[in-house]
Amino acid sequence: MPSRFFSIQFRLVVGFALVLGLALFGVSWYVGSVAQKEADRFERRYQQFRAEGVTRLLARYYYRNHGWDDLQGTVEQFASVTGRRIIVEDAQGELVADTHPDSGEAFTGDAARSQTIPIERNGRLLGQVTLVTLAPGDSAGTIREPAVSRLASAVDRALLLTGLAAGAFGVLLVWLMSRRVLSPVRTLGAAAQKLGQGDLAQRVPASVPGELGQLAHTFNTMAENLQEAEKRRRNLVADVAHELRTPLSNIQGYLEAVKDGLLQPNAATINIIHQQVLHLVRLVEDLRVLALAESGSLRLDYQPVAPGELLEQTAEAFRARAGAKGVQLVLDLPEQLPTIEVDRTRVTQIVGNLLENAILHSPEGSVVTISARAPDPATLRLAVADQGKGIEPEELSQIFDRFYRVDPSRSRATGGSGLGLTIAKQLVEAHQGTIGVESQLGKGSCFYVELPLSPRRNGTKPGPDSRF
Ligand code: ADP
Repeated sequence: MPSRFFSIQFRLVVGFALVLGLALFGVSWYVGSVAQKEADRFERRYQQFRAEGVTRLLARYYYRNHGWDDLQGTVEQFASVTGRRIIVEDAQGELVADTHPDSGEAFTGDAARSQTIPIERNGRLLGQVTLVTLAPGDSAGTIREPAVSRLASAVDRALLLTGLAAGAFGVLLVWLMSRRVLSPVRTLGAAAQKLGQGDLAQRVPASVPGELGQLAHTFNTMAENLQEAEKRRRNLVADVAHELRTPLSNIQGYLEAVKDGLLQPNAATINIIHQQVLHLVRLVEDLRVLALAESGSLRLDYQPVAPGELLEQTAEAFRARAGAKGVQLVLDLPEQLPTIEVDRTRVTQIVGNLLENAILHSPEGSVVTISARAPDPATLRLAVADQGKGIEPEELSQIFDRFYRVDPSRSRATGGSGLGLTIAKQLVEAHQGTIGVESQLGKGSCFYVELPLSPRRNGTKPGPDSRF
C-alpha cells in the first residue's frame, strides 16, 4: 500500500470524516424522526378539524334542504377542496352520496386512511359521513392538498444536503489545517534523514510554538551535540597524530643517523632512543586511561584510605625529584582526618600529577605545600600549592582541556603532553569529586581536589578492559 495511506494527514482526514459522518447521521436521524412524528400529529389534527367542518356543513345542508336530496353535487365540491373521498349515508345506513364510487370499498375499513363521523344536530342522528384518503391514481380531478408529512422528508433532504456540504467543507478544512500543522514534522523528517546520511550541519526552524517547536529545538540541540562530538573526534585524531609524530620522528632520525654511520650506536644514543620510546609508551597509556575514564568504563577499586598516609607516601616518592630542583616539599595535615573511600592507586595518580606539575613550575628555593582538610563532614579537600610564576587568568579555563599546554614548545621539551590535568580531572570526576585551581601571577598556583568521603558506587560502569 502506498505510504501516503499511512501518513498522519491521511489518518486525520479519514478519522475526521468518520466522526463527521457519524455525527451527521445521528443528527439527521434524530431530527428526521422528530419532524416525521410532529408532521404526523399535525396531519391527524388537521384532518380531524376538516372532517368536523365537513360534518357541520352536511348537517346544515340537511336542515336547509329538509333531507339529503341532491347531496351528490355538494359533496363533490367538498371532496375537491379536501382531496378526500366523501361517502354520506342517512340515519338508516342508506348511501346518499359518494364522490368516488369507482374506488369501491378500498380503504374504507382502513383506520389509518378512513374516518367515519356521525352527523348529528341537537341530539338527533341525521346520518354518517366517511372520509377516505385517496390513493394517488384516484385523486385526479380533485385539488390535492400538500401532505404535511412531506415536510419531514423535505427536512431530511435539507439535512442530507447540508450535511454533505458541511462534511466536504470540513474534510477540506482538516486536510488544509493538518497540512499546515504537519509541515514542521515533514521538515524535521527530511532534516533527520540528511543528518543520518552524515550532514551534521542540518538544523530546523524552532519558531513553531508548542510541542513541535520543542521537538525542533531538541533536534537542533542533538544535531549541535553530534556536530560538536564529531569535531572533537577529528581534533582528537589530529592531536594524537601530532603528539605521536614528534617522538616517532626523533626515533626515526636517530636510527637513520646510526644506519648511515653518522652516529655511533653507543649507550648514549640508545638512551636517547629509549627516552623517546618511554615518552611514546606514557602517551599511549595516558590516552588509554583517558578513553576509559571518558567513556565511563574505568572501574574503581574503592577501599577505605587514610588520606594523611596516602599524601605522605606520594610526597615521599617525589622528594628526590623536588630536592634535585632545590624545591622543598611541605605537608600540612591536621591531627585528625576522616577515612575516605577511594581507589587508592587513582588518587595517588591524581596527587602525583599535581605534584609533578608543581615541582616542574617551581623556582629553586621555593616551597610546594601538600595539604588536606575536611571542610564539611562529607568532603575531603586536598590541595597542592606552589610558589611558581602562576597561570594567566585566560589560560585557567583551558588547562584541564586535552593536549592543552600553556607553553607548547617548553612543555614538549620537558616531556609534558598536555594530558596530565585532563586525566586528573577525569579521575576526580569518576570519584564524583571536583577539581579546580586558584592562581596568582608571580605568586603561585594552588590546585585543589574535593572528594566525597563515601561516594555512590554506581558512578562508573565496569568494563571488561578497565584495569591496567
Ligand atoms: P603536561 O602534562 O604537559 O604538564 P598538564 O595537563 O599537566 O600537561 O598541564 C597543562 C598545562 O598547565 C601545562 O602546559 C602547564 O603549563 C600548565 N600548568 C600545570 N600545572 C601548573 C602549575 N602548577 N603552575 C603553572 N602552570 C601549570
